[in-house]
Amino acid sequence: MKHQAPLTVGPLVAGPGTRVIGVVPVDLGEGRLVELPIVVVHGAFPGARVAVTAGIHGAEYVSIVALRDVAMSLDPALVRGSLVAVLTANPAAFAARTIYLNPMDGTNLNRVFPGKADGSPTQRLARWITDHVIAGSDVFVDMHCGDMNEALVSFTGVEETGDADVDARSRALAEAYGLRYLLIGPASGTTTTAAASLGISAVLGEVGGQGRWPAEDVALHAAGLRRLLRAAGLVDEAPETPRHVTEMLRSEAWMRATSTGYWHPSVEVGMRVAKGTVVGEVRDAFGKVLEQPIAPLDGVVIFLVTSLAMNEGDPLLALAG
Ligand SMILES: [Zn+2]
Repeated sequence: MKHQAPLTVGPLVAGPGTRVIGVVPVDLGEGRLVELPIVVVHGAFPGARVAVTAGIHGAEYVSIVALRDVAMSLDPALVRGSLVAVLTANPAAFAARTIYLNPMDGTNLNRVFPGKADGSPTQRLARWITDHVIAGSDVFVDMHCGDMNEALVSFTGVEETGDADVDARSRALAEAYGLRYLLIGPASGTTTTAAASLGISAVLGEVGGQGRWPAEDVALHAAGLRRLLRAAGLVDEAPETPRHVTEMLRSEAWMRATSTGYWHPSVEVGMRVAKGTVVGEVRDAFGKVLEQPIAPLDGVVIFLVTSLAMNEGDPLLALAG
C-alpha cells in the first residue's frame, strides 16, 4: 500500500492512521485571538478529505455535540481519506451565548465568507477557516441548527454552482445525509458558497435548536454526517437512512420584522402555509398590533423565531416551497 503523507491543519500534524486533537490559536488582529478546537482524523488509507465545521453560530448546540461525537469516535485505522473537524468555529459567540453574531464585532460569521485577511475579527476568522479548513478539501459540510431563539425542521441545503459535477456530488451527499427536506439555492457570504466557489462539493445540515441538545436531535445530526462520510467513501458503516422521502424545496423566503416589539406567531415550524396567510403579529408592550406579516409564497415553515422579543429587521421565520 502506498504510504500517505501527514496531514497538516495549522499547527496540527496527523500521520496516516492517527487522530490528532488540539486547540488552534487564530490571530484576529490587534492582539485578539480565538482558539478553535480541531480534530484531524487522518485515515490509514487514501481517500477524500472531508472538512466539517460546527458552531459557526455559537449557540447552535446540536451541531457542536454531534460533530464532536462523530470526530472523536471514528477509528482512524479503518478510515479512507481524512476528516478535518472544527468543533466550535466561533468560540467567542459560544462563550457569550450570543445569537447570530460574533460579540467581538457584532457580525454574523456566516455572512462574510470567504473572509478577509486584514478585515474585522469575524472577517479574519472566516478567512482562516476558508484557507486552512475549506480549501484543499474534497467535500465540505457546515453543521448548524436553529439558534437559541429558533425552532426548525431538519433539512440540508446545497448551492447550485453551475459546475454539473460539483453540483451532482453535493446533491448526492445531501441526500445521503437523509434529512426531511433539501433546500436548493444560493446564500451569499456563507461557508457553503465559499466552498462551492472553490469547486468543492458542500452541504449545509440543520437539526434542532432553541438552545437545547436533546439526545435524539444529536443522534439524527450525527447519523446524517456518518451517512455522508460513507457516501464520500471514508467509512463503510453508517446508521440506516430514515424511512421518510426527502422533499426538495427550491424557493425560499425569509420574512423579517418591520417593527420592534413582541412576536406572537400563529404558525408552527414544519407547517405548510399558503401564500397570503397572516403568519402572526408583532405587538407593542400593551398588546396593540403593530404588524401582521403575510406569507409571500406557498411553503413549509423551515424555521420559526420562538422568542417573544422581536427587533425590526430580524427574521420572523423562513418559508421554503
Ligand atoms: Zn446557524
